Amino acid sequence: MGVAPSKRSKARTRRKRTAWSKLTAAGTMECPQCHEVKLPHRVCPSCGYYKGREVVAKKVAAAE
Ligand SMILES: [Zn+2]
Repeated sequence: MGVAPSKRSKARTRRKRTAWSKLTAAGTMECPQCHEVKLPHRVCPSCGYYKGREVVAKKVAAAE
């Protein structure tokens, strides 16, 4: 059984909500190559770079 919203203080709700939002934000990082938001330990979907080198060749790069 959950706690009824009427028995939960505004401060408690907001504190929990803040902790949750920080948790979800931790799942993202900025790409060092193109500075787009990407998932950590993943190849960047924007530029295809990972650990300073191109892992996935983009269509633009292949045409050159
Ligand atoms: Zn990138």
